Amino acid sequence: MIIRASLLDAPTPDTLRFVEDGILIVDHTGTITTSGPASELLTEALLTEDEVFDAPKDARLLCLPGLIDLHTHLPQYPVVARCEEALLPWLKRHIFPAELDFQGPGQRSLIEAFFDELLANGTTTAVLYAAVWEDSTALAFEIAAEKGIRAVIGKMMMDEGSYGEAHPAEARRKSLDETRRLAEQWHGANNGLLDYTVSPRFAVTCSMELMKEAAAIAADTGCLIQTHLSENTAEIAAVRERFPDRSSYTDVYREAGLLGPRSIFGHAIHLSDRELDLLASSGSRVAHCPTANLFLNSGLCPLHSLRQAGIPVGLGSDVAAGPELNLWQVMRSAIETQAVRRMQDGSIPVLNPADALYLATMGGATALGKDHLIGSLDPGKEADLLLLDLNRVLPLGGRFSPPSDANAIATALVYRGGPHATLATFTRGRRNSRR
Ligand SMILES: [Zn+2]
Repeated sequence: MIIRASLLDAPTPDTLRFVEDGILIVDHTGTITTSGPASELLTEALLTEDEVFDAPKDARLLCLPGLIDLHTHLPQYPVVARCEEALLPWLKRHIFPAELDFQGPGQRSLIEAFFDELLANGTTTAVLYAAVWEDSTALAFEIAAEKGIRAVIGKMMMDEGSYGEAHPAEARRKSLDETRRLAEQWHGANNGLLDYTVSPRFAVTCSMELMKEAAAIAADTGCLIQTHLSENTAEIAAVRERFPDRSSYTDVYREAGLLGPRSIFGHAIHLSDRELDLLASSGSRVAHCPTANLFLNSGLCPLHSLRQAGIPVGLGSDVAAGPELNLWQVMRSAIETQAVRRMQDGSIPVLNPADALYLATMGGATALGKDHLIGSLDPGKEADLLLLDLNRVLPLGGRFSPPSDANAIATALVYRGGPHATLATFTRGRRNSRR
């Protein structure tokens, strides 16, 4: 497969690579073999190859690495934008009922629509929570395979304050049995495009016993771990009350054995220096979810403190606390969150669009431990790609916008990107099916 387009990627936080007229070649295994300027790479032999991609005639084709959503909730998408002042009442009033309904084969159309929406937004890798139900979690894996998307999915685990009706001990046993079964069946499935992630919701609805057993399943099966950490002050107070012997929220997860390089913690807003040390020294990862943090009045994440501590960070849409799956809007929100912090404290560094694009591509890949596979357009990587029409991002169809440099393009994407610009997505070189 050969793509002739402008090429743009952000392999490091401060590098933006741009080739205005580029060529990208993908071999039959879905690996990028070549990427660079057409003037150097375009040969007679290449020109005789079948045309790969039928772009609309007036399109300005731009090829990027597929976006990586490091934290979102599949069953919650129908109830986005339900206004509530804070996390805990919002969960009870809007989210638990939606997750309670997410069971049975009837969920197929919702799951298909959800993956279509992710792909329409240019997201080719997503780390997802399902609900507590085993059947709909398995169905999500099946449909992810049909769509050809790269996905990391986990059944939500809770044994206390759950919307399941079981007694805590019974809920715990069921949750652990189902999690182990799903992990054994789906971790590494579809030739490695699918992974399982053990997913205790958070320490407010999980017993220490459940969390310890969850960590053991992850260790046994080699799958990932995801949970929520330090999102909101009332949540932190509830954790302190539930685990008075532990020195902090992060220390609860340390005690449970949940910290480590295969673990992704959503939010991580209100952490002490000691907690940052615990995360960093254990190699733990963070999903920064700025749209969600603002929607639920949770706080302004000190992104630079996390990164300065050496914690790998990517971005999450965190639907339905975040109002949309559009990662360009999440990038914009990440920039604006740091801008507001900087208005209060001039020492806070600026987050620029190039770095935001890094967070949504290579940053996410690194946090997932997949930076050797995805996240940039380097030869040797698997071809997870987003092809979009830059004219649909620029004002007035691009008719009055002269060609611009890499930074200007990245900025236009962050502030105006979305499904309206997406032409196609590819995972490991294969075009994703989308209605
Ligand atoms: Zn979440």
